[in-house]
Amino acid sequence: MTEKPLGFETLQIHAGARPDPATGARQVPIYQSTAFVFRDADHAAALFNLQEVGYIYSRLTNPTVAALQERMAALEGGAGAVCCSSGHAAQIMALFSLMAPGKNVVASNRLYGGTVTQFSQSIRRFGWNAKFVDFDDLDALEAAIDDDTRAVFCESIANPGGYITDLDAVSAVTDKHGVPLIVDNTTATPYLCRPIEHGATLVVHSMTKYLTGNGTVTGGCIVDSGKFDWSASDRFPSLSAPEPAYHGLKFHETFGPLAFTFHAIAVGLRDLGMTLNPQAAHYTLMGIETLSLRMERHCTNALKVAQWLEHDPRVAYVTYAGLPSSPYYPRKDRICPKGASSLFTFSLKDGYDACVKLIDSVNLFSHVANLGDTRSLIIHSASTTHRQLSEAQQIAAGAAPDVVRLSIGLEDPDDLIADLDQALSAACS
Ligand SMILES: *Cc1c(COP(=O)(O)O)cnc(C)c1O
Repeated sequence: MTEKPLGFETLQIHAGARPDPATGARQVPIYQSTAFVFRDADHAAALFNLQEVGYIYSRLTNPTVAALQERMAALEGGAGAVCCSSGHAAQIMALFSLMAPGKNVVASNRLYGGTVTQFSQSIRRFGWNAKFVDFDDLDALEAAIDDDTRAVFCESIANPGGYITDLDAVSAVTDKHGVPLIVDNTTATPYLCRPIEHGATLVVHSMTKYLTGNGTVTGGCIVDSGKFDWSASDRFPSLSAPEPAYHGLKFHETFGPLAFTFHAIAVGLRDLGMTLNPQAAHYTLMGIETLSLRMERHCTNALKVAQWLEHDPRVAYVTYAGLPSSPYYPRKDRICPKGASSLFTFSLKDGYDACVKLIDSVNLFSHVANLGDTRSLIIHSASTTHRQLSEAQQIAAGAAPDVVRLSIGLEDPDDLIADLDQALSAACS
């Protein structure tokens, strides 16, 4: 008889956490220690040679961070995970093991504004390039993949526009071309969407958002599906070829499905140092314990507010994939059946000036550049998070000048609606 796998609600509390062997502490302790004592010289040598897994130094591994890594891998259904200091750090770290100068990533044009900037500007300094395409146009996606493509990157539920990526269709294309698919699952969280089940190779997160859930830390994570064959071609030498810094060890040959995870820790964290600290890992572990409950309420509150806005005469349109009017509503049932998260935009008939006035008129909503908080948040993306983008890029990303973004929190939705109602009255003619 095969054992029934543990449910999500059980894993979000128990995965990675066991009573502390030294003290019996039931909650995962914050191991606020930089270094860990070796048993003897042989033990130290085995750890440094990657022949034994253990703790050396907290830039690489730390027991509190390791508990979070195990929990994230369990929730996403991956083989392993690596935590990083922020979501952006996780993205660079995900690319680091795959890319080389002259190589490119093919990315969706519907992405978090900061990611568009990171990919279109900063990664060029490493000699990497990004090509942006509309992932609803599978022919364009396929045409953009060339011999130098080392990754394809998209978000499951894309920020800020309430867009859902057809991960099944996208992964069929990446599989055909033998390139890994990286999915940013920040807005959906593993409770709403499990990208590995739809063909993702790596899943990246900004844990800053819904995972921690209350706007207290910045953190990131990469979950490794363990399913990609890094040795099928010579395109991923970091993982398939001998690593000079480890006496010619080949990560894929040695660690199999954990090749990416080990490389990201042993080379990525070692040399880039984008490490998550144990205190931040602790806050994130606390947040994840209630992830399913929070996401359910985020989704029902968001739907209520979106429905109300959609029927308001001052509003031009609402882009929430949980609304039957959304073109992405049919996709929701397949990609994120438990809900469409709580991030969406709406457009005001009175345009840019009314958007700015609305933001200055809300009381309960906080005007901040964040999302996925217990508190409801509001921002005018075009003048803030998506400010570095051209107007064409803003429109493609769902952040046109007449659009306001909401991240609906866990308050009483009637209070949120009342606040928006009075602010709309102040902002619109
Ligand atoms: C916030 C965010 C990021 C960046 O994460 P940080 O933790 O702020 O570095 C990346 N992708 C998405 C979808 C985000 O919302």
